Amino acid sequence: MQIQWYPGHMAKAKRMMQGDMKLIDVVIELVDARIPYSSKNPDIDVLAKNKSRVILLNKSDMADQRYNNDWKEYFETKGFHVALVNSKSGSGVKQVQDIVQKACQAKIERDRKRGILNRPVRAMIVGIPNVGKSTFINSFVGKASTKTGNKPGVTKGKQWIRLNKFIELLDTPGILWPKFEDQTVGLKLAFIGSINDTIINTTDLSLELILLLQQRYPEVLTNRYEVTLPEIVDSKQTAAGVLEQIAIKRSCLMKGGEPDLDRAAILLIDDFRSTKLGTITLEYPDKKI
Ligand code: GDP
Repeated sequence: MQIQWYPGHMAKAKRMMQGDMKLIDVVIELVDARIPYSSKNPDIDVLAKNKSRVILLNKSDMADQRYNNDWKEYFETKGFHVALVNSKSGSGVKQVQDIVQKACQAKIERDRKRGILNRPVRAMIVGIPNVGKSTFINSFVGKASTKTGNKPGVTKGKQWIRLNKFIELLDTPGILWPKFEDQTVGLKLAFIGSINDTIINTTDLSLELILLLQQRYPEVLTNRYEVTLPEIVDSKQTAAGVLEQIAIKRSCLMKGGEPDLDRAAILLIDDFRSTKLGTITLEYPDKKI
């Protein structure tokens, strides 16, 4: 789902989130394992103050395995309960229940002391558009659940999905807005396809991607496209030279035989998004480049 965030939309989403927060014990935030920093909502820490917190590094299958655990540890040191998941295949999804329960241990203890036994914890999934919320919910909920709420004669309210006797999940995920203020965040969201392509110049975007890949994954460009990288690719101009080589190698040519940079740009970005370039992580804990 592509959403253009206007101040009005954002204010409304925030209001809804504030309302829902009153109903739940634990917030399960999905972030994209390829850009865990840039895909994390900046305001949720304030909105979810005093709530138990779980972070799921989703699409971990598309991210570089070498960094997945670094990110997990990073968020754990910040006090989150964390899991690496692939919602599409279901890998890692099963452990989430345990993690949610661990995250809510203090609340379960409090309940127990007050004589309240076996009250399920109430959870809500949140995340920016396209991060995989619906896919995760489908995988997490599976078949073994029943919808609760909206019983006849009861005022229409929130729909909860009862997963089992331990967890109830709010059936609609909370859609969060991304960080706006930081331009590199916007770029990374665009790389993974989280921002509508029609508002971005694809060729420009591909040059930025080349600059980033050259820093961390130069072999990806040389192996897949058999291009020769200059010593330093540090400007859009040198990146354009690389894009030109990709165009020639991949026969993206215009009628007169000139390299078609626009087509090469689309090819590169599609290859990145479909992991044809391999599993790639674009930022690292504490460096966030
Ligand atoms: P939402 O907007 O947050 O609800 O995102 P969706 O659940 O609609 O997912 C967006 C896209 O990401 C879909 O094409 C999903 O198939 C894909 N997707 C979601 N989770 C994963 C994952 O863990 N791995 C992979 N490879 N793709 C995923």
